[in-house]
Amino acid sequence: MRNLKFGFAISTPRSINLDTADDRMLKELKAAVPSFKRCMNCGACSATCSARQFTDYNIRRIHSLFRQQQYQDLEKELQKCMLCGKCTLVCPRGVNLRSMIMNMRKILTDSKRKNNE
Ligand code: SF4
Ligand code: SF4
Repeated sequence: MRNLKFGFAISTPRSINLDTADDRMLKELKAAVPSFKRCMNCGACSATCSARQFTDYNIRRIHSLFRQQQYQDLEKELQKCMLCGKCTLVCPRGVNLRSMIMNMRKILTDSKRKNNE
């Protein structure tokens, strides 16, 4: 088949088996921030995010990636958050996003430290 170039590439197929994936970090986050489970992915947090005005930071995306147990690069991404708390104020489901972000940072850092031991 001819290799057509349209200026974009098709993503490598990805699949996540949530039955076999290691969900320890997700469980840890749910235990630390129970309101995390109430998210309905509306995007209000991203729309009002202070960091989003200056960077490509997307808290809703991070939230979804953590839920899907895709942790690559999240630690670095989370450093863009200024912990201002605006997202928590606007969330219609009462998700404590500020606490969620701080706990995500801690869980990811602890996991990295354990892996390096
Ligand atoms: S505002 Fe709340 S419910 Fe909406 S995507 Fe953000 S965390 Fe989820
Ligand atoms: S706490 Fe972080 S994620 Fe929430 S609005 Fe502020 S900068 Fe954005």
